[in-house]
Amino acid sequence: MHFSDIIGHKEIIRSLKSAIDEGKVGHAYLFTGPAGIGKKTLAKAFATRLLCHENTANPDCSCPSCIRVETDNHPDLITILPAAGNSIKIDQLRQIQRELFYRSLLSERKICYFPNAELLTEAAANSFLKTLEEPPPGVVFLFTAVRSDLILPTIRSRCQVYQLFPVPYNEIADALVKKGVGPSEASELAGLSQGLPGKALSGLHKDQAEQLLGLDEVLSSSLLDLFKIANELEKKERREVLGVFKKWERQARQELLRGSGSELRSRVNEFILILEKIGQVTAMIESNVNLRLVIEEFFLTLKTTGKNC
Ligand SMILES: [Zn+2]
Repeated sequence: MHFSDIIGHKEIIRSLKSAIDEGKVGHAYLFTGPAGIGKKTLAKAFATRLLCHENTANPDCSCPSCIRVETDNHPDLITILPAAGNSIKIDQLRQIQRELFYRSLLSERKICYFPNAELLTEAAANSFLKTLEEPPPGVVFLFTAVRSDLILPTIRSRCQVYQLFPVPYNEIADALVKKGVGPSEASELAGLSQGLPGKALSGLHKDQAEQLLGLDEVLSSSLLDLFKIANELEKKERREVLGVFKKWERQARQELLRGSGSELRSRVNEFILILEKIGQVTAMIESNVNLRLVIEEFFLTLKTTGKNC
């Protein structure tokens, strides 16, 4: 997730970018706004840029850090979600505070992110105020919440606060067109969105995910996109993931049966290897192996298979 992926909020992005470029990154930020406005997307894009090894605005950056943030798998991006009982507990924060004092593992900074900062209890918040006030070098706290008045004043007063406002209709419609949506559908979605890009995108993403999951798209995707797909697949039930692999298996067989063009002949070996690999993968998914590892390894094989045949 990069700044260029965000719809609207240009002033805020400009301000965050210049803080980075001028070496004036603060140690705590709070982004507020209603669901769908883009506060979590913005926090993730900011975290991506803060951790990026290239310190680049390039949306295609595929440095190890950007890939890890995109796939929710970065050791220096610590996300604090509520424990049982739907609040963030003191014990969770004690553990995290200890982690913040360890050296960063992959990047030069460490981000401590509270996506639902409203759920911090007063006792929990008080337990880490000192760290929030004077964090270890390189640590940046990010908070997102629906409204700033739901955040404890002791937290809020230590943050740079950015309130996100509804995005103008034109900006949402233009962004959708850039994503390949037809102009009339884009203007309809933008019109219904109430200025919330997330709302406009919600129907769209569903269609894109469906399309991406065809074998053709998988074969033509970059490794970065494949890791994003692996991330989506990991969240599904094993049964559903098996369904996806069965679908790719059917598509690979169809490719093999489809005729005898010279282009196809040259790809026969590739599809035979893909089928073999899918057979191994489905067997592994049916046993209790780590789903993420199996999917990532499959994608890596696809990328090397295509080149070697
Ligand atoms: Zn990067």
